Amino acid sequence: MPGKVNVIDHPLVQHKLTLMRSKKTSTSTFRNLLREISMLLAYEVCRDLPTAKVEIETPIAPMTAPILDGKKIVLISILRAGSGILDGMLEILPSARVGHIGLYREPKTLVAIEYYYKVPDNMGDRDAIVVDPMLATGNSAVAAIERLKQSRPRSVKFVCLVTCPEGIRTFHASHPDVPIYTAAIDDGLNEKSYIIPGLGDAGDRLFGTK
Ligand code: URA
Repeated sequence: MPGKVNVIDHPLVQHKLTLMRSKKTSTSTFRNLLREISMLLAYEVCRDLPTAKVEIETPIAPMTAPILDGKKIVLISILRAGSGILDGMLEILPSARVGHIGLYREPKTLVAIEYYYKVPDNMGDRDAIVVDPMLATGNSAVAAIERLKQSRPRSVKFVCLVTCPEGIRTFHASHPDVPIYTAAIDDGLNEKSYIIPGLGDAGDRLFGTK
């Protein structure tokens, strides 16, 4: 049973993604755009979050009003490029808790190896939003979510900027219960497992390491 894929085709998202894809875009502009686009992605990902009612007083009258329980949301950044999305999402969800999962791709086999894992306690009460800009082979995301599921979060969503059919297939073969939110589904992978046309190496573009 294939899982759900939500393509966020809002014109603002698509415009910013096009600017990010261009190889002429500088590191600082790329970083700013990633922060901005991540706020817009957060808006879509949070569309179905439950709200609670609180009693408040406006300057005019008392009222019962909806409020989001931000403390129940955990943003999980897959290191290192996930931290670019994390920064933008935290501007929209300032009370969210944060976890980090560090994985690297073993160059020969492309298998994901874990080197860091830290998430908040009591994940059973929390809704996890896992972020990584590129869902390429899907191996890192599959491994990260497998690891995260050991802490039994109440729900899990996965957010990326760009993915491709291979990444979606691999991801949902292991995690059909985890919906993917993405700004684009590109053509596929090249021989080095980069997304075509993609935007290059998201970590290098974000941190200026190449
Ligand atoms: N990781 C990236 O940063 N870019 C790709 O195209 C694939 C994986």
